[in-house]
Amino acid sequence: MKGQPIDRFSSELAADTRTAVIASASSTTEKRSHILNSDYPDPNRLRKLAAQIKQHTLDHLDTYLEQAVSKMRENGVKVHFASDGDAARETVLSILKEKGARKIVKSKSMASEEIHLNEFLEKNGLECLESDLGEFIVQLDGDVPSHIVRPIIHKNRREIANTFEREGLGEYNDDPEVITRRARAFFRSRYMESDAGITGGNFISAESGRVALVTNEGNARFSMAPNRLHIALIGIEKVIPRDRDFSVFLNLLARSATAQQLTVYTQFISGPRVDSQPSGPDEMHVVLMDNGRSDTLGSNCSEILRCIRCGACQNVCPVYRQASGHAYRATYGGPVGAVLSPLLAGDAFPQYSDLPRASSLCGACREVCPVDIPIPDLLVKLRAKGKVEGIPTPGSPSMGGFARGATSPGLWRAGLRAANVMNSLPASWIPAPALRSWLDQRTLPTWKGGEFRRWMKERRKA
Ligand code: SF4
Repeated sequence: MKGQPIDRFSSELAADTRTAVIASASSTTEKRSHILNSDYPDPNRLRKLAAQIKQHTLDHLDTYLEQAVSKMRENGVKVHFASDGDAARETVLSILKEKGARKIVKSKSMASEEIHLNEFLEKNGLECLESDLGEFIVQLDGDVPSHIVRPIIHKNRREIANTFEREGLGEYNDDPEVITRRARAFFRSRYMESDAGITGGNFISAESGRVALVTNEGNARFSMAPNRLHIALIGIEKVIPRDRDFSVFLNLLARSATAQQLTVYTQFISGPRVDSQPSGPDEMHVVLMDNGRSDTLGSNCSEILRCIRCGACQNVCPVYRQASGHAYRATYGGPVGAVLSPLLAGDAFPQYSDLPRASSLCGACREVCPVDIPIPDLLVKLRAKGKVEGIPTPGSPSMGGFARGATSPGLWRAGLRAANVMNSLPASWIPAPALRSWLDQRTLPTWKGGEFRRWMKERRKA
């Protein structure tokens, strides 16, 4: 189903997968709303504050990045810049090679998903093990994540138990606790055998150069602690001005992503180990990745860079719930992906130009977004971009024909008569292929064209 427009993908989605996605997404949405409204008298104020801080940082990104880099260097961190995915992959590889690292454990990072880092390192002869349980299962299955926070939202526990059995991690058992214990036992030795740990980073404080990193499994901490080398791959938009801003974002991130007051493990990493802080890696490298972000910042959709990757817009979106993340054919699915993927794609924009159309513009995504990104407005801007660039939209019928019919009374009357006949015909008989494929994926109510005209005629007679 790769490369198919989102509605076709959705129509062919297995019922089990749809059920798993809807159940998980809707329960998290409800819990998120409950926790935010019970913990704060006006959660909207916090959202607006977070949006202001992020937008201010983006508006002065050059200044804050410079400040963050100089602080990180003061703290002993080696900072690298990567203009695109190739540069980021090569930078990570050269650091690992220079240190002779062959076995790598990695914690969940959307930036690394974006550049397919695992596959690249493996092609270059290195072992790269995902240590987040969901990402680990994705890796075992040769799959890709379908949600920012819950990479296996599309899988049920029976599928996971089958994967574990197939991979020799124990006999079939679909009890989540057993699955978790088996994964834990497997990972403990792997952490100790590894040569390097790769992580992402949720936020960087320009004030102190500290990197904040959150996980619910403690795997980022394990990926760093026993290793001599730590590499953090982070998008340039992750900078925030001050340490005190961590509290705004960490409170919102945990509640929006998983309906928790705080993510279970929250690390603030200042740099490699020093005499006063003797545990941890000898070396820490931060690779700051652009990969389309500067162009996005310069576009009329720059607000999307406020995103803190909480996944709340995915959970609430009626299209995402029906289609699941894989339908978006890119690292980021759901409303955030429908905006971000076409923008980050650069010259490959046409490949993703159908995504902004996969929305009813209901506005639910904006209502839940912890940084108040006007996602529906951005979707409309991207639709306009596609139109201006003359990109055809697969799967949508032409509106030109409708416009002609609607402005010509004779054609309109003939259309009404034809549409009444269509009620009794199967969709495969419809002569226009574009309309046929559109109707393949939709069930229209019975056509009742002409009723109004009849009513009007009768009324005039009376
Ligand atoms: S766009 Fe907003 S709601 Fe969606 S993932 Fe980003 S921060 Fe969360």
